[in-house]
Amino acid sequence: MLLARKGYRVLLVDKSTFPSDIMSTHYIHLAGVVRLSRWGLLDKVMATGCPPLKTITLHLGGLDLQPPRPADLPWDPIAPRRTVLDNILVEAAVEAGAELRDGFSVQEPTFDGDRVTGIRGRSNGNAVEETAKIVIGADGMRSRVAKSVNAPEYNTRETLSFGYYTYWTNVENTGAHIYFLEEVERGVLIFPTNDGKTCIAVGGAIDDFQEFRSDIESNYLKVISCVEGLLEQVRGGEREKFIGTADQPNFFRKPYGAGWALVGDAGYHRDFITGLGITDAFRDAEYLVEAIDAGFSGREPLDEAMAEYERKRNDIAEPLYEVTLQMASGEEVDPAAFMKFGAAMARMMPAELPALRTK
Ligand SMILES: Cc1cc2nc3c(=O)[nH]c(=O)nc-3n(C[C@H](O)[C@H](O)[C@H](O)COP(=O)(O)OP(=O)(O)OC[C@H]3O[C@@H](n4cnc5c(N)ncnc54)[C@H](O)[C@@H]3O)c2cc1C
Repeated sequence: MLLARKGYRVLLVDKSTFPSDIMSTHYIHLAGVVRLSRWGLLDKVMATGCPPLKTITLHLGGLDLQPPRPADLPWDPIAPRRTVLDNILVEAAVEAGAELRDGFSVQEPTFDGDRVTGIRGRSNGNAVEETAKIVIGADGMRSRVAKSVNAPEYNTRETLSFGYYTYWTNVENTGAHIYFLEEVERGVLIFPTNDGKTCIAVGGAIDDFQEFRSDIESNYLKVISCVEGLLEQVRGGEREKFIGTADQPNFFRKPYGAGWALVGDAGYHRDFITGLGITDAFRDAEYLVEAIDAGFSGREPLDEAMAEYERKRNDIAEPLYEVTLQMASGEEVDPAAFMKFGAAMARMMPAELPALRTK
């Protein structure tokens, strides 16, 4: 969408067909919501009935904490269903002039020596090849593009946690809640979302995954029962199916090379505990488009602009990564790391915030 809006010819391929769902509890931090606003898409998201999350309460060691918000901002964090959010983003890309081919599975990039020259894939059972000046792998943490170009991985850490979530009716909307339940060594995330439903996730240490999955429903409800009043509410409602994973790798990848780039989870993946993946992907999409435009327009050598993309991404992501991993490992978060996390979150807010605020 961002490249098409700058006038570039964009071919957007995805193996899914839209609207599509993906495994995610889909909380979007303010820095992500502000980007939806500046892209002109926030009204569309809100019009789907996605409730603003007026408060976020952290329940920790007997304390209920509501982190202060920047004053007088007209936005709240949101947690739109991915069926809703992804569809709006795809439609906006098409509206901006991108050609969409969904149901198109990329098998691998094509090469001329070391340089990526396009993609090879399958669409409607047919083999298809397309050429491009740059191939951008926005294809998630198991990125085929990253694998084919052998994108170097660094700052890799072991998988620390697992999570299971589902959607319930009948849960009162009192904003978002994050519980750290020391007595059962589990966390609970509660995010009101579209259609009057509430996404409730339960997570824990990776070593407990097998035991938890041996009886998902009963283990999930046992944890839910530690949150006062929640079990009674969900018992009075209906739920969707349980979705869960222990596939939570933690890594950075070099996000560019000859004829290719990576963005979103393909370039950087972290545990889901801080709910940062979508906000990270939005931020990095802007950085990447800036770099490609600087290079393609001749304002800067492309390689230098792409190195700057990686530097800017890492500069913000590293302190977020550190705290995310400390939280996921169940460690007490180091206060100095937390200060850096807060500063990075603040730096993620766009510089032209005062102008956006009046829109
Ligand atoms: C349990 C869980 C909970 C989470 N909760 C949150 C949360 O609350 N907030 C948050 O911000 N993030 C959360 N995340 C993380 C978030 O979902 C991701 O960070 C985010 O989706 C990354 O977006 P992306 O576009 O980079 O990749 P993805 O959303 O993974 O999208 C990749 C796309 O590439 C397509 N694709 C993949 N391979 C191919 C191929 N070979 N050919 C064609 N198309 C292909 C896929 O169909 C998909 O549409 C959570 C993740 C998990 C697992």
